[in-house]
Amino acid sequence: CGIVGVLGQHEVAPMLVEALRRMEYRGYDSAGIATLQEGHLDRRRATGKLAELSDLLVHEPLPGKTGIGHTRWATHGAPTVGNAHPHRAGPVAVVHNGIIENFRALRGELADAGLTYNTDTDTETIALMAQHYIEQGLGPIDAARKTVDRLEGAFALCLLFDGHPDLIIAARRGSPLALGYGDGEMFIGSDAIALGPLTNRLSYLEEGDFAVVRREGAEISDGQGRTVTREIRTLAPDT
Ligand code: GLU
Repeated sequence: CGIVGVLGQHEVAPMLVEALRRMEYRGYDSAGIATLQEGHLDRRRATGKLAELSDLLVHEPLPGKTGIGHTRWATHGAPTVGNAHPHRAGPVAVVHNGIIENFRALRGELADAGLTYNTDTDTETIALMAQHYIEQGLGPIDAARKTVDRLEGAFALCLLFDGHPDLIIAARRGSPLALGYGDGEMFIGSDAIALGPLTNRLSYLEEGDFAVVRREGAEISDGQGRTVTREIRTLAPDT
């Protein structure tokens, strides 16, 4: 259980896998990544060790300079490829650590609205909810904000949107999330260890924070929607 996001200047698949590798100590049962290639969302997922995902990527590479990744510790739904993150609904992909407590209620509401479930996870609800708001005419940022406001439980998550290669939404409630600042690149990770090889300039999101992350930086707002700044610290170089 770790999440990572990269808005890069280079191919991100190797960076995502390396960051996930550095979070292996947290334990996991499956892993996956999603990227935007020329604006289009695609993903690769595998059960078992990260080596399974790496092997898959050798045979089915995933190009792109924007992406998200996840190692899963299943809480809702068996550890299968279908239940592995990133989850996708229409133009939205999500990686999530934690548990969405009210997913059954939200699921019922979305099913009534005609959206179809493909997995047994609580997480898929997040992607479907964001898709639902986008279909109602909201842009990705507003759709993400509205979605996060509906969620109950503990989570850290990243959202990636088809057609928006310079945007990742990161939100935190109950699970830690760090932002890494690069040179025209931005990184998101469950912990500083994950981001070690990528940057040593880090800030931590605080409880309830919602971050609009682009290559040039992040706009962070708190649980009340007020714009906030989170101190960026420069850590000793990675060893
Ligand atoms: N509750 C989610 C799932 O079971 C996320 C688990 C995790 O934190 O890895 O898919």
